[in-house]
Amino acid sequence: MKWKQIGDIIILNRNVENPEKFLKMKGVKTVIKIGRIRGRMRKPEVKILAGTETETIHKENKCLFKLDVANIMWSKGNTYERIRIPRLIQDGETIVDMFAGIGYFSIPIAVHANPKKVYAIEINPKAHYYLKENIKLNKVQDKVKPLLGDSRIIAPTLSADRVLMGYVVNTHHYLDAALKCLKKGGILHYHETAPDKIKFKRPIKRIKKAAKPREVRILNKRIIKKYSPGVWHVVIDAKID
Ligand code: SAM
Repeated sequence: MKWKQIGDIIILNRNVENPEKFLKMKGVKTVIKIGRIRGRMRKPEVKILAGTETETIHKENKCLFKLDVANIMWSKGNTYERIRIPRLIQDGETIVDMFAGIGYFSIPIAVHANPKKVYAIEINPKAHYYLKENIKLNKVQDKVKPLLGDSRIIAPTLSADRVLMGYVVNTHHYLDAALKCLKKGGILHYHETAPDKIKFKRPIKRIKKAAKPREVRILNKRIIKKYSPGVWHVVIDAKID
């Protein structure tokens, strides 16, 4: 059985006989089972096994993330990416986070780097609510501006040195919007889920096609995690002139 702890909530991947036993662990108030994660808003299928409350505050890399695990996903597999991205930010950058969620990237960037502004776009009102809570919790009101709505509509109205596309499955449908807001010489962090054989080839091809005639320089490509059998979640860092 796989399990993880988010804040004071234990998350299992299947039913267990005596879930109450987890409540004896220090700092645990609820035990839940998470099934599949569905839809554009990445909502998890959740069953409460012990306890009642599903809202918690999770601490990672000196950042606080309030979330309701019954409604919002937390990916442990993205932990290194949440540490890596703030290290790349130059002082004074303007950043657009097109799929901000509860601030998975926007908050660590504001806490650990010194951007001019991070525009954090999120379409799900529940995630946007927690994004605003997390901006307050981490005291980064002057750095992160939360925007509720569709990044395909909002991103082209902004202008950025760096655009984060932390979304999977249909991310390429958003490339045009991302490129419209990315300044000349700006950096794109493009995520995609792709089969092993074309795990870097396909996302790079898609970036180059969408960016034409702008010049694309690939700065980095890395596997974030396994998505499903034979399919990887990857990220490509690209400089677009
Ligand atoms: N970027 C984070 C990461 O990679 O860890 C969050 C990923 S989360 C899976 C994706 C988020 O994108 C969800 O909160 C979802 O509601 C949001 N989303 C999906 N489509 C969107 C859109 N068109 N505009 C803005 N947000 C969107």
